[in-house]
Amino acid sequence: MRIRAQRLLATLGLAISVGLLVLLTHIHPSTTQELTLHEAPATLTPATLPVPQPHPLPPELAQWQDSTNSGDYFDQVQPTPVGYLVWSQFPVRVYVELAVQNNDEQAQRWVKAVLLAVQEWSVYLPLVLVEQPTAADIVIVQWYSPLRLSPSGELQRMRTAETSYELYISHVKDTPAILSHRCTIKLSPRQIVPYIQATARHELGHALGIWGHSPVATDVMYFSQVRNPPPISTRDINTLKRVYEQATRLGWPLR
Ligand SMILES: [Zn+2]
Repeated sequence: MRIRAQRLLATLGLAISVGLLVLLTHIHPSTTQELTLHEAPATLTPATLPVPQPHPLPPELAQWQDSTNSGDYFDQVQPTPVGYLVWSQFPVRVYVELAVQNNDEQAQRWVKAVLLAVQEWSVYLPLVLVEQPTAADIVIVQWYSPLRLSPSGELQRMRTAETSYELYISHVKDTPAILSHRCTIKLSPRQIVPYIQATARHELGHALGIWGHSPVATDVMYFSQVRNPPPISTRDINTLKRVYEQATRLGWPLR
């Protein structure tokens, strides 16, 4: 049965209007990517939040074995105020914004690169493409970041991507209300294709639960953009698996 996500008071707009929005941002030191966390909506109090529990691992991660002992960077992953950003309903539904104008080659190249990145991660977690952003858990949109000036009036380097999540309460008829999340990835088409794909790969890593950065340049989740972007590494998946083994309040019924 398809879950019908119903937005209650958890919309970002409302959170801003009641002044409860906490924006925690960390910008990658030498690049252009940024994470934004949107804190729990006003309706959620500690008394009503679900009890943190782990979810069963999806089969792909349950079967994952690293015979090379490559290690992980789990200690760099931040739990959010409601626990680790773990998806528990599979497949995770992904919406990729299609080229707005058919003749816009840049936009079409963007779509292709993003779809490839989605495909890469789907080896490790079940993902499915959906046609409507309202039906998606992860929404990936084309984004032209605004120009910014430094305090001294110099033009700053433009950001290429930004990933954020928001919480909402989902209701399926006759079942308890579930604390849920959805992610938005904003991604610039103003890069060459391999970098668009690499940036999409990295931001999808955040959206799939790796809310932190690796200190090692051969991991997709390395904090900085590198000249030759690596594929998803053993360490990335070791880390992802550890994230999915953690307790979280997401995906469980409210009390
Ligand atoms: Zn990042």
